[in-house]
Amino acid sequence: MRVKCVLCDQIGKLEDDTPLAKKLRNRPIHTYMCPICEQRISEMTEARKATGNFIFYRSSHLTEKDF
Ligand SMILES: [Zn+2]
Repeated sequence: MRVKCVLCDQIGKLEDDTPLAKKLRNRPIHTYMCPICEQRISEMTEARKATGNFIFYRSSHLTEKDF
């Protein structure tokens, strides 16, 4: 089946019998992302996690020092 990446509109091809193709057919709400965008998203998620840890560290540090 042909699939379109929800992020960059690239048309990809999926073998009909892969788990992902079945998921997309059964639940059209499930969106397809090409491998490049998937990689980008997972990198962004990692970066956000790192930022979150940093902010948490700083704010707890500030709370201890300033009050
Ligand atoms: Zn893409």
